[in-house]
Order: sequence, then C-alpha cells, then structure tokens
Amino acid sequence: MKHLNCALYGHHFVLTKHVTHHVKEYKCKNCRKQATTSSNGKIIQLSDKRKEINQTLERMYQIKKLKKVSLSN
Ligand SMILES: [Zn+2]
Repeated sequence: MKHLNCALYGHHFVLTKHVTHHVKEYKCKNCRKQATTSSNGKIIQLSDKRKEINQTLERMYQIKKLKKVSLSN
C-alpha cells in the first residue's frame, strides 16, 4: 500500500546526503527510491552514473572548502 501512496501523491523524499551546497541526495521514505538534485535544480532519479558524479562533486567540494580554510589562516 505504501507504494500506492507514491503513485498517487508522489514520493516522500528525505535528505540522505549533503553532496554540495546545491546538490543533495534523497531517499523515498515509502518505497526507498533514491533521487538527487540535477544540475538545473530539479529532482531526478539517482542512477549509478549520477552517484559517481556526486562522489566526484563531493570530493571537489571538500577540497575547495579545505583550501578556503587554509587561505583564511
Ligand atoms: Zn516512493
């Protein structure tokens, strides 16, 4: 019945991962479908390819953050 809810009312996405300031990963509370923010800000399905992209983004984001910290010191 929970899956029917998704079909009727849409997925109930909860945040699972903060990739960057703009990109986040989500999971549906009901059917466990995974989603992510696309480059134009829309919620799209999280494919394996997307996961890879997000991992790369996350690494770049962390490096950038570290650089900022070391510059300000
Ligand atoms: Zn769902």
